[in-house]
Amino acid sequence: MAVNESVDILNSAYLAVEYIDSFLPDNPLQQPFKNAWNYMLDNYTKFQIATWGSLIVHELSYFLLCLPGFIFQFIPYMQKYKIQQDKPETWEKQWKCLKTLLFNHFCIQLPLICGTYYFTEYFSIPYDWERMPRWYMLLAQCFGCAVIEDAWHYFLHRLLHHKRIYKYIHKVHHEFVSPFGMQAEYAHPLETLILGTGFFIGIIVFCNHMILLWAWVICRLMETIDVHSGYDIPLNPLHLVPFYAGARFHDFHHMNFIGNYASTFTWWDRIFGTDYQYVSYQEKEKNQELLTEKKSN
Ligand SMILES: [Zn+2]
Ligand SMILES: [Zn+2]
Repeated sequence: MAVNESVDILNSAYLAVEYIDSFLPDNPLQQPFKNAWNYMLDNYTKFQIATWGSLIVHELSYFLLCLPGFIFQFIPYMQKYKIQQDKPETWEKQWKCLKTLLFNHFCIQLPLICGTYYFTEYFSIPYDWERMPRWYMLLAQCFGCAVIEDAWHYFLHRLLHHKRIYKYIHKVHHEFVSPFGMQAEYAHPLETLILGTGFFIGIIVFCNHMILLWAWVICRLMETIDVHSGYDIPLNPLHLVPFYAGARFHDFHHMNFIGNYASTFTWWDRIFGTDYQYVSYQEKEKNQELLTEKKSN
């Protein structure tokens, strides 16, 4: 009964979004995107698209998404949005991070990316334009992938903090107490594999087109680079996502080591009470602000 009701609700939601979509003006970028997609299909093999295409999408998205946070360190105006203002980024830290990152990207992630083609062939996942899901379906699928990844990340990340194993794997990711965007994938190779598994579960559940793989890569990178950016920027569109954890939430994890284990949403830490130190820290900060305001008046 409950399952039937849920399916009915999902069907109604889908019909409602389809109805709204029919009133929206045509997307001017749709035709150029269709041309580019079909050009890619006509000129490259599925193996080249799945392997080199995925590598390019990952590398381009990663460094382009890191770029704003990287530039902020040179803009004095942006410093008021830096969360841990007493710990600025240094060239030494960023250079060290970049070297490990490139090793992880090309020696750990690239061999995994090479499996993409065989994955899409095994599950008969299409590449063609005609079967590409609409934007609202892609958004819903990416949200579903994020919910699954977040649950995986919460429990495995918490386990990696266990005092018996912390120093062997997860300590590497915690080398920088004040995170910066490029650090998002700075981790021990085993951590890349363990926490990275959460990325693939959603893909196995939802993938019905090659485009979802790339859309989910971009969404996941957007989220993880934002929460590691070290900056809490006002009007950040990601804050429109319900229960989104954000940069302050994960920055606190790097500063405090205990609590705030989830990657994207706040619900697991709330359910298990692992956000209690963060909640009391926020209250303390608020009281401090009120006190300074009163003094200045
Ligand atoms: Zn951690
Ligand atoms: Zn982190």
